[in-house]
Amino acid sequence: MIIILKPGSTESEAKEILAHIESEGLRPLHMPGTERVVIGAIGDERILESLHFENYPQVERVTPILAPYKLVSREIHPHDTIVRLGGVSVGGDGFIVIAGPCAVESAEQMRDTARAVKSAGAHALRGGAFKPRTSPYSFQGLGRAGLKILQEIGREFGMPVVTEIVDTADIDEIAEHADALQVGARNMQNFRLLQALGKCGKPVVLKRGIAATIQDLLLAAEYIVAEGNAEVILCERGIKTFETATRNTLDLNAVPYIKQKTHLPIIVDPSHGTGVRELVPAMSRAAVACGADGLIIEVHRDPPHALSDGQQSLFPDEFAALMHGLKPFVEASGKTL
Ligand code: PEP
Ligand code: MN
Repeated sequence: MIIILKPGSTESEAKEILAHIESEGLRPLHMPGTERVVIGAIGDERILESLHFENYPQVERVTPILAPYKLVSREIHPHDTIVRLGGVSVGGDGFIVIAGPCAVESAEQMRDTARAVKSAGAHALRGGAFKPRTSPYSFQGLGRAGLKILQEIGREFGMPVVTEIVDTADIDEIAEHADALQVGARNMQNFRLLQALGKCGKPVVLKRGIAATIQDLLLAAEYIVAEGNAEVILCERGIKTFETATRNTLDLNAVPYIKQKTHLPIIVDPSHGTGVRELVPAMSRAAVACGADGLIIEVHRDPPHALSDGQQSLFPDEFAALMHGLKPFVEASGKTL
């Protein structure tokens, strides 16, 4: 529920309402603006309505938050949230590109790939150390050793690093080594993990589940934000449909829809979204055109020998060409690369 106070209301009048909300076991949000003080009350809307905040003399009007997600909704937070990923801003006027291999395989592989993506203009480096694989017999990632390599190479090239978290037990260690923690599609509804990430103190890249609706994704983000971490970057990475020509179906409808409904930044992953290297540049341009705040792209120094997702990973020169071709699209969208 959103409670808008009359112009000229005092601090103590706002505090009175905030205390009332808290005393009912609900979550108060204080949002002082330049003209009006707005108070958010988060909780069961039926309980909130029964409290009749409109009866306070300092209240101008009360409106319910209609969306099932509250804290991530634009209804309560009309302006874009800008997430700080290391020294890079995600959201707002900038367009960011996170690039790197699917998995960290060795220091040399990371160094060569980081050098290539950095010189092509990528802003951040990706690389999985803990890999959730469909088959238990596939490469599972280097684990802790991979985290160390990623951190070291990120520092060497002055790039923030993003890596996947698959288990709550690893949060502290990953938060120590990475600038952002990625929740993969398979864990999007691992609610205990999401809640724990709400307290990790680092930005979270939350990927859409393979069979998740947009609402499911936004409610998953709400789990993280509700625990105190507002630094969530949403990621559209394709969903399962009846289509078999591509690995997934990249649902770019989600981008403008999410922009309308929430204040969180959204990036697009055309690598997992298509699963086909040749399709990645076109879908990257499409992501820019529909209003995404950035891209996360798999690049490997030697894709045919990659230990995971080689078929969708770009060769370094293909990535450089993609970045070059993206520029006019980003400029046309009113953002800067
Ligand atoms: C990845 O980024 O390599 C990955 C496993 O992504 P997703 O969770 O989207 O499949
Ligand atoms: Mn991958």
